[in-house]
Amino acid sequence: MFPELIEGCPNKFQRHGSITMNYYSNDPREIKTKFPSCCATCGCKLPKGVNVYYWPSSRKIYCLECGDEDYRQFLSSAADEEVINGTGNPYCGC
Ligand SMILES: [Zn+2]
Repeated sequence: MFPELIEGCPNKFQRHGSITMNYYSNDPREIKTKFPSCCATCGCKLPKGVNVYYWPSSRKIYCLECGDEDYRQFLSSAADEEVINGTGNPYCGC
């Protein structure tokens, strides 16, 4: 997810596997539609097989245009959380 955070630090990467993000089942994610759908915000048609943002907690699907801002906000808040928890510290120290 953030390869620049682990660049130059292969040991850390190996030790921790993926240190970048922990995904939970309710976390929003970018998916490909498996069936035709509609954007929950603008109502545009989303045919099968296009990339969309999916928010499992509300079971809503947003087109990339509508979902982008919220998704980025989620990513940055999740990253902050991991740094605060000490699981996603971008500063390696090795
Ligand atoms: Zn939309």
